[in-house]
Amino acid sequence: MKKTILNFAIIIAAVVSGCTNEKKQKADVDKDFAAFEDTFLDAYWKQHPSSAIFAGYGKYYDLLVIPDANAVASDIAFSNAWIDSLNKIDLNALNDNNKISYKIIKNQLESDKWYLEVFKIQEWNAANYNLSGDCDYIINQEYAPLDQRLRFLSKHLEHADQYYAAALRMLTNPTKEHLNLAIKQNLGGVSVFSDALNDSIKASGLTEDEKSTLEINIANTKTAMTAFADSLKKIVDDKNRQFKNFRIGKALFTEKFKYDLVTDLTPEETYRKAMEDKAMYLQKMVKISEELWTKYYDKQPRPKDDLQAVQKVIDKIMDQHASPKDFFDTLTNQVYRLKKFIIEKDLFDFDTLNPPIKVRLMPEYARGFAIASAEFTPPYQKQGTTYYNIDDLTKYPPEKAEGSLREYNNYGSQLLSIHEAVPGHCVQGIYNNKKSPDIVRAVFQNGAMIEGWAVYAESMMLENGWGGNVPELELIHYKLKLRELANVLIDYQIQCLDYPKDSIIHLLAVECFQTQAQAEEKYNRATLSQVQLCSYFTGATAINSLREEYQKKMGDKYSLKNFHEVFLSFGSSPVKYIRERMLDTR
Ligand code: ZN
Ligand code: ZN
Repeated sequence: MKKTILNFAIIIAAVVSGCTNEKKQKADVDKDFAAFEDTFLDAYWKQHPSSAIFAGYGKYYDLLVIPDANAVASDIAFSNAWIDSLNKIDLNALNDNNKISYKIIKNQLESDKWYLEVFKIQEWNAANYNLSGDCDYIINQEYAPLDQRLRFLSKHLEHADQYYAAALRMLTNPTKEHLNLAIKQNLGGVSVFSDALNDSIKASGLTEDEKSTLEINIANTKTAMTAFADSLKKIVDDKNRQFKNFRIGKALFTEKFKYDLVTDLTPEETYRKAMEDKAMYLQKMVKISEELWTKYYDKQPRPKDDLQAVQKVIDKIMDQHASPKDFFDTLTNQVYRLKKFIIEKDLFDFDTLNPPIKVRLMPEYARGFAIASAEFTPPYQKQGTTYYNIDDLTKYPPEKAEGSLREYNNYGSQLLSIHEAVPGHCVQGIYNNKKSPDIVRAVFQNGAMIEGWAVYAESMMLENGWGGNVPELELIHYKLKLRELANVLIDYQIQCLDYPKDSIIHLLAVECFQTQAQAEEKYNRATLSQVQLCSYFTGATAINSLREEYQKKMGDKYSLKNFHEVFLSFGSSPVKYIRERMLDTR
């Protein structure tokens, strides 16, 4: 680490002293910044080797940081040193793209520091500690030949017992909710060391010695993971123990909101806007339910209670769905039609869809989280394929399949394909990998921009006539909007306002038309994360207002395609930074 900082000091000296000719100086500053970025990123991955694995940066996969007090101190010192170095760079001298990269790096370092020094996540979130994610990536990412990956895996696992022992010592103030999550995830994570992996090891080119060392390291890791889960279980079962409240409170929530989402809006402003939108969408839904009532209920009287009436119409629309067997083909066909639509309507550059998005059945390792997902190659492996994964519903128990199919009915499934694939996550991911000039925004990607884009895409497609404005699609669309804004409402109510569970369930199930099972699941998720649930609504709100401002700025020269192309060219950067560049505000 010392050596890297030394190298870096030399680069900074060059940036600061510069040369006399201003034009030349400007170019030099940007060139130096590019060099700075490389040095910084390599140092960052060495400092955070587990994060390097998720970015696909193969160099440090053999390293494993033991999460003890030394590691925390070293991480904080690392952030401080690099923040100091950033402060020596003249931000205003950098070009537009580098200005964004500079700000992203700074936010990342300040955020890393805050998580350890103020949020102290290492002391209370037991789910922080789990080696199975690292291993899953080392085993399944094909960034290097299998033999090399297996050697990395062996090294990575060499001190798994020390890793878990340190984790247990670090957890001085755990919450019960995160203890339970960590128990579940570590016990479940053992399955990453599967029979298929054993077969690969046997068939590999490793020497007999290497093979037996790897097998011993895997066996020890499995033991350490199970022992860790057992120890956590003892803590959970300790009747005399006081647990930390999982609710983080308004002060920490406000700071986390700023670091995670990178927005000028406060949580209160966002909460208020979500409340207003809720009333607005509800009004529209009541109106549609009046229009559709006789179509579905003939002469049956409409319930006096508007919420009930809306729910009853939604029930009938949800009856209209594919069979488990047809679901995959239905979505594949939607993607084809969505692509055709965005080209016909001239919403994006034609070459966006080259190489194409591959629609496929969800691979085994990705199952169990969602019915469909977008999958990208990690940032450092740009040449890979973008997938729209769709789960095989014929493998679900019938009741579960029916529940999913009702949610992703003939209308809901269209919005799912827009959100996940075209022009939502898959399309945005292609821009991020292919068209964005800088790796920084791919490795430190902003979740609010990514989710905000997918949510923005839902409404944008309908505005442009997708689905022919049928009232059923509109009603299901508004139901989805309620889900997205309810994420903000419940996150804030739970974390900052101390609302009890039954009030949250009522909001979701009665006022936002979700099933009891969905409401329960969402409540549990909201006890385990903070701020993340706000990213969808916050991101989409920021994109919509940026579009309005950009249209004003461009006047006659504005087109929707132009907005999309310029906006997406900045990769997965925070919308706030993209806005500064697109409107040239600072
Ligand atoms: Zn059905
Ligand atoms: Zn999404």
